[in-house]
Amino acid sequence: MRLRRLRKNSAIRDLFQEIRLSPKDLVLPLFVQEGLKKNQPIDSMPGVFRFSPNGVMHEIEECTSTGINAIILFGLPAKKDVLGKSSFNDRGIVQRSIKSIRDCFGDKIVIMTDVCLCQYTTHGHCGIIVEDELNNDKTINTLAKTALSHAKAGADIVAPSAMMDGQVKRIRDLLDENGYTNTLIMGYSVKQASSFFSPFRDAAHSKPGFGNRQTYQMSYSNPREAGREIESDIEEGADVLMIKPALSNLDLIYEAKVNTLHPVAAYSVSGEYSMIKAAAINGWIDENLAITESITAIKRAGANIIISYYAKKMAEILKKTN
Ligand SMILES: [Zn+2]
Repeated sequence: MRLRRLRKNSAIRDLFQEIRLSPKDLVLPLFVQEGLKKNQPIDSMPGVFRFSPNGVMHEIEECTSTGINAIILFGLPAKKDVLGKSSFNDRGIVQRSIKSIRDCFGDKIVIMTDVCLCQYTTHGHCGIIVEDELNNDKTINTLAKTALSHAKAGADIVAPSAMMDGQVKRIRDLLDENGYTNTLIMGYSVKQASSFFSPFRDAAHSKPGFGNRQTYQMSYSNPREAGREIESDIEEGADVLMIKPALSNLDLIYEAKVNTLHPVAAYSVSGEYSMIKAAAINGWIDENLAITESITAIKRAGANIIISYYAKKMAEILKKTN
């Protein structure tokens, strides 16, 4: 056995490389904030911004020039209330952004939208609170209204992330009743109560005002329960299954890939970004190599698409090295 023959020089290594990344694998998450005049840096995620409505258009322009053709939008409204009503306002920040992006880029870009209430509620939880508890069935009605307003504005894919039971079905039914049978649903099928979301809460102003999210987000200790979440999203009509965080769930990504026939998305979350970024800023790690290695691992585990705050940088690295 001389396995080193396959590693003899860079041309040989290149020929036999098994996993290859492409900008087409990548989705860039974007925060867009209502009323913002200038893009605002996010302290806990150096290099990531809350974009103004104009700023987000420039960012997408740059993103498409690197070969990426998908984004996922997170809206930060000017006003919040206990019911998160601005989430389904047809003139809301996400709805208006979708329209502008569609007008400017046509079908060249796939527009995904996060469908949740935590950015829109004063208490910061992902749904409607009744007697100090998050009410599942009231929440899924609001999520469905929100998803419908995104579809009306022109979203290609709506992605409910509240981890409510029945959210995918309620959304599918309302979209279909209103003629949006071609709008896709990407379920946040496995979303864990994870410490790796902390920088996101700073970015999206969505830290829960009381308690935590453990009655709706899953425990990372329960892989079989993750399988049931995936099964239920498939039964409810999800078109794409998503798992987040990514790096701490490579086993679950692999299982979703081998046990289902659905496309699998992996979301490499804010904490995954910030860990690499912090180490890179301190000179402890080579940022480009670390990004490439971690995104390759997520693809190797079985992800068809990878949502990453490093998407644009990864695409630029690919452009340089290919
Ligand atoms: Zn949420």
